[in-house]
Amino acid sequence: MTQPEPLTHARIDLRRFDRNLAVVRGRVAPAETMFVVKNDAYAHGVDVLVPRAARAGIRWFGALDVETALRLRALVGGSARVFAWLLSARDDLGAATEGGIDLGVGDRAVLEAAASAATDRPVRVHLKIDTGLNRNGVRAEQWPFFVARAAQLQSEGRIRVEGIWSHISEASDRDDDDARRLFDESLVAAEGVGLAPEYRHLAASAASFLRPEFRYDMVRIGAFVYGISPSGGPHEPELGITPVMSLRTRVVEVRSGEAILPIGAWHGVPSAAAGLVPVGAGGRRHTVVRIERDWMSVNAGGLLRQDDEVVLFGPGDDGEPTATEWAEAVGTIGEEIVVNVDRRIPRIYR
Ligand SMILES: *Cc1c(COP(=O)(O)O)cnc(C)c1O
Repeated sequence: MTQPEPLTHARIDLRRFDRNLAVVRGRVAPAETMFVVKNDAYAHGVDVLVPRAARAGIRWFGALDVETALRLRALVGGSARVFAWLLSARDDLGAATEGGIDLGVGDRAVLEAAASAATDRPVRVHLKIDTGLNRNGVRAEQWPFFVARAAQLQSEGRIRVEGIWSHISEASDRDDDDARRLFDESLVAAEGVGLAPEYRHLAASAASFLRPEFRYDMVRIGAFVYGISPSGGPHEPELGITPVMSLRTRVVEVRSGEAILPIGAWHGVPSAAAGLVPVGAGGRRHTVVRIERDWMSVNAGGLLRQDDEVVLFGPGDDGEPTATEWAEAVGTIGEEIVVNVDRRIPRIYR
């Protein structure tokens, strides 16, 4: 017997996921695709998506923190590479090393802590240069000293420099070009002290897809695999990707021409979107009227009845907008819309 679907749920379409993954990999090849699964695979669920991606041949996973990295290691077994880059010298880098995690190292203290965590095998590190985001990473003026120290630790057998990397805004081509110039200089400096890492990686979804010269040896992709396009375009159809998550519920009541839905701001629906976005039902769009704490209402248009299925966002099959369209309505990005979907709302995989 199959269980009835929960009234409100996030449907995760695995075929669309497979297709997006194939589209992205085909596009960026021969660069390697690291699949970024921070925040529980952008709230789609690592437990299902990570083993699936591994079976499809993904060899690199981006975890963010050590705890997630170790969880991924348990999910994928020994062969895949797992990259964690939100690190501090207080993290359990010994456990990370034991788990064969690749560490993204963006300051001297973490470099030393990583080297101290070496056992009989060197710790695999990826050195991060700050190319302008000013968040994390070694500043250009410190870089020569940093890579010299890394080369020394590598010659002592305590670390192995597997990668050199950075992160860019992907908000302006001009800023990204400046960042890439700095990145290239940092690679020359690393070469100058004898470092020849196998993986140079700089781009996330947008730059890797749209700007081939940003791909280097590997790209780190989250958003596009989940079918989320950048706010302001280019949108999903242009990119050849499709949203994987759709947020679905049913009408609980119709009164005064408004259909009441049992989901609201405290489930992650941005209340600022009221009046600005529609929802989809049966192929038609219905304007959102109100978004309260735990319910919302939409214009029934004389069509919606109690128990009718309504889709807040998804690929558009039922007339609904995408998560990116919600994001654009409230001035944010589609990733934020999907990761805000309350974790207590069940994910149903199809
Ligand atoms: C989140 C993240 C990515 C993935 O970004 P998308 O735009 O979702 O593809 C890549 N690299 C780093 C360092 C990140 O934090």
